[in-house]
Formats: sequence, C-alpha cells, structure tokens
Amino acid sequence: MNSVVYFNGPVQNGDFTFAQRPGKAAGVRLAEALNALLGLEPVPHLWNTVTLAGDLRHRRAADRDTVGRRQREQEALVAKYAPGPAPRGGLRTDTDHQVSCLALEMTKELLADGTLTVRELPVRLCTRCGYLAGMGTAGHCRSCGHGDSQVTRRPLLVFDRTAHGPVLGQDDVHGTGARPPSHLFTIAHHAPQLLVLSRTRDHGVDLAPLGLEGMVLDPRAGLHVAVLAAAREVGAAWPVMTVTSNAAANVAAYGAPFRRYGPMRLRYALHGKIPYESAASDRLYEVHRARAVKDLFTGWYLPLCAARERAGISAVRIPALLKLLRRAHLARPVDPPGDLLTDLRHRAATGDMRWVTDARALACALSAREDTSGPMGPTRGAP
Ligand SMILES: [Zn+2]
Repeated sequence: MNSVVYFNGPVQNGDFTFAQRPGKAAGVRLAEALNALLGLEPVPHLWNTVTLAGDLRHRRAADRDTVGRRQREQEALVAKYAPGPAPRGGLRTDTDHQVSCLALEMTKELLADGTLTVRELPVRLCTRCGYLAGMGTAGHCRSCGHGDSQVTRRPLLVFDRTAHGPVLGQDDVHGTGARPPSHLFTIAHHAPQLLVLSRTRDHGVDLAPLGLEGMVLDPRAGLHVAVLAAAREVGAAWPVMTVTSNAAANVAAYGAPFRRYGPMRLRYALHGKIPYESAASDRLYEVHRARAVKDLFTGWYLPLCAARERAGISAVRIPALLKLLRRAHLARPVDPPGDLLTDLRHRAATGDMRWVTDARALACALSAREDTSGPMGPTRGAP
C-alpha cells in the first residue's frame, strides 16, 4: 500500500464551471500537484452530489421524466471541466456504488460497536413532502416551500459524541511546520453533542437496509466515506483530504466516526482561499513579463501556496508570489540534485509546505514536475 495519497475534499456539484470559479478547483489542483511530486498516478476527482440544491434542481428540470438524477449529476460534472480536458484519474461522486457499499459496511460496524445508534427522536417534518427540518423554529420547508410542519417521532441514525473523544485533534490535521488555525478546533468542538447522521434527501447513500426508510447518510459524513472509497481503490493507507479550514470545521464532527477503516486513516490537509480575482488580471502578467507562467501560477503554484497560507492568501502577496515563481522557473535545473529532490518528496509526504517560498526548493519542484507528465503536461519549451 502507498502511504500518503492526496484526494480533494468532495466539491459540491453546484452551478459553476472551473473556468468561471477557479477557486472551486483549489483542492483538486493541490492534491494533483502534491501527488505528482510524490510520483503517484493521478487519482479521481471527488464530488459531492448529495445536496438539497441538487434535489431542487432535478425536481424543477423540465426533462426530469427522461433524464434521471444520476445522469443529471454526471452531465453537470463533466461540464465543469469544459473547455479543458476531463481529469485523467476519472470522476467519483459520494453516491457511487463503491461509496454506498463502504458507507453501509462502516455504518453497520459503528452500530455494532456502539459508536452510532438508531434512536427514535422528536423531529419536525414538513406535512407536504416529509422533509426533515431541524428542531429549531418552524418555518417554510426548505425543500418544497410549504408552510406547515408537524412534530413527530422518527428513528434516526445518531452519533452521540459525549462518550467520544474530541471530534478534531491536532493529529487529524496533516502537515508539519504550521499549526492549524485554533478557531478550527473551537468550531468543530461546538457541534451538537447529539449529531443526526440521517437526512431526508432524494439522492444519497440509502439507509433503508438499516431500517431507516426514506433516509440517506448525511453528506458531511458521506464525503469522508467517498475519500476512503477512492483511497481503497488505489490502495492508499493514509488518504489526505484537501479542504479549506472553514469546510473542515463544518464537516469534522460528522466525519469523526468515518475517518478510520481497516488500515486506512484519513487526515485533512488544510488550505486557505486564493484571491483569483487578483490573479486573473492580464496586466499583472504583462507588468512582470510572466505571461508564460500564468497557467502554472494559477493552476499549480497558488494552490500549493494556499496550503502554506491556511488562513488564505492575501491579494497583496500575489505580485511577490508571481515574481518568485517566475524567477524559480527561469532558474530550474535540468537535473535537480538528488538530495534536494528526496527532501522535497519527504516534505510533500509529510505536508510540510514551507518549501513553496524557498526559491531553490521551488526550482527543484518545477524541474521534477516537468520530468513527469504533470497534471497540465510538461511546460518545458513552452513560449
Ligand atoms: Zn416540504
């Protein structure tokens, strides 16, 4: 088994393309860049399709009688990559057959060992569509807009974290050399003590085999299973999921029971947001005579920098980072020194991202990238 393999935290299949919203691809690009440095084959891109927005989009579609939900999600996913190529490692979603099988397998074991339980709890259900809302104030149904709901009791899949340790610890975060933002732990620890892991959705990992008719696994738990399923497929014992700090804070509690399975142990590689609006300006590349490295900068270097700047890359840093990349690109050695390359691979595996602003290490990484047919192909000889 490979030790560390990076996977993107499943991205919500919303209405956008990567060309329009390059920030949505940051986790995907980061995982690609680090796997390539490690000399690994491309892994599948992971997508989150268990969303209420997806339910609504499908119900409202004029062609819903001829196009099934799965097909609709798939078509929307493929369109994300246009006009670029589809990913070499393929696409996987959080409702794929392997994910559903693994999720049920894991949930059964977690029920058997008492980590999860099925409990009958009071819930608020929409009287028209049966949508399960929180127990907070009643309002219009988020699923169908109906204004009436009723409180009733229903069996639910729950994770009572009272008996569980912290839902997020330092060792759940991959990487050395930078402490994770402390607010991350605070938010994760403020999740409710009793977490409901079953939801009413039209699409998802069906929990009917566990006696929970009409319910699916909460997508915040399911996206961890999607990563583990992809890791199992490529034989990765230590899958590392790239995710923004905020997203990690929101999903960590739900994913806590789903981060270990067999020999596999999932950890998070945190990254900050990238100010793509500042990095998109053509003027920037003219001023710095850096047009040749624009794609390299936006699609490879900035995602790597975002893993170092976990609180987000400041827009004012963009010109300096571009200058650094351009210089390192000009200075890249034909054959990177072996010891430097070994050190760089060690850092890529351990998630030590300090090298991204070290000119010598960066030049070496650029050189190594061109040796393999990297995610965007070799750039040597490009204008
Ligand atoms: Zn409703």
